[in-house]
Amino acid sequence: MGLLVQKFGGTSVADATAMRLCARRVLEARAAHDGVVVVVSAMGRTTDSLVALARAAHPDPPRRDLDLLLATGEQASAALMSMTLQALGAPAIALTGAQVGLSTDDLHTRARIGSIDTARLRAALDAGRVVVVAGFQGVSPGGDITTLGRGGSDLTAAALAAALGADACEIYTDVAGVYTADARLVPDARLLERVSYDQMLELASVGARVLHPRAVVCAKAHSVELRVAHAHADGPGTLITHESQDMEQIVVSGCALKAPIARVTLAGAPNQPGSAAALFDRLARAGVFVDDIVQTEAGATTTIAVTIESADAADARRAADAAVRDLGAGAVSLETGLASVSVVGLGMRSHTGVAATLFRALADAGVSVRNVTTSEIRITCIVGADDGERALRAAHDAFGLARRPAEPAAV
Ligand code: ASP
Ligand code: MG
Repeated sequence: MGLLVQKFGGTSVADATAMRLCARRVLEARAAHDGVVVVVSAMGRTTDSLVALARAAHPDPPRRDLDLLLATGEQASAALMSMTLQALGAPAIALTGAQVGLSTDDLHTRARIGSIDTARLRAALDAGRVVVVAGFQGVSPGGDITTLGRGGSDLTAAALAAALGADACEIYTDVAGVYTADARLVPDARLLERVSYDQMLELASVGARVLHPRAVVCAKAHSVELRVAHAHADGPGTLITHESQDMEQIVVSGCALKAPIARVTLAGAPNQPGSAAALFDRLARAGVFVDDIVQTEAGATTTIAVTIESADAADARRAADAAVRDLGAGAVSLETGLASVSVVGLGMRSHTGVAATLFRALADAGVSVRNVTTSEIRITCIVGADDGERALRAAHDAFGLARRPAEPAAV
């Protein structure tokens, strides 16, 4: 039955024993499918260690070299997974991002996928091999190794599934699926059976680290269903798929915390068309992903504040400084040590009072809210980083998301 893409996260392949367990899963899948493509992350915390090595060598590591270094983590994993499969008797071949024809732009450390030339992949699959692909990486038009951004192996998996027209894409990780909140922070969080692409995208963008947001965007665009499940425990996991009627009946289905985050504010820019464009042009050119945007006008001037990941704070500040030079006006400030707490649910579209419930819960928990942004299915509050976990638990309780006593606890 058709093609299957299976992705194994870093903790799932952290050592030889864990890798063998994953390989057995691949063998089972192989028996039931026409072909299996395996995508692997770097083993355990390898990428973090490589980043630390780079920082020890250079305070702001040159990005081309950083990509060359970081891509080795996934390369090692892929080679070892291929060996493990072969030791278990399955014909396998390991390929890097470049070898698998995954072309990207040249924005090092956060490259975007342009196209995937599946010829080599198909040939290997036709020859009856399991293809093990090093996740998180590709090759630029100039032939340089690029990486897709932290957590990018999920995107490799979704993109390969789309390019190959795979029947399914399974994302194996160290949790049993997508929960109503991070179970490490909220012990009574409940496992969700199904989540819509849009909800998952909102959850992933606001801190649910189980899946990379760009993988969700890619999966939705190509109608690839994703199943997130535990690599080393059996269970149904969570299906990420198109929206259905019953999903909408649940007002709020999940909460997430993102911390630490930072906020860059451009104040005193001329209140005229083009001010926001100047800032966002600069941010885009620097490759900074913006979480939320708040613009407020006061007479002749306007203030634009954007929240970003802490790791992007320095780049975002430089971009905002450049925008001030472009505009010939304005002043930039940077705040760090912030967190965002979000509630997400399709049912928000048709229910009122969600904001009131959230603000009441945060007030009762003594959390002061610094800023609020919303989408059709999400409310996000910016709070101090110290208040983040308390705010998350308060929101989770307020919307009755806790697991009922009979339901199994998080794995
Ligand atoms: N190894 C990379 C990271 O840690 C990519 C991934 O795991 O998806 O960010
Ligand atoms: Mg990941």
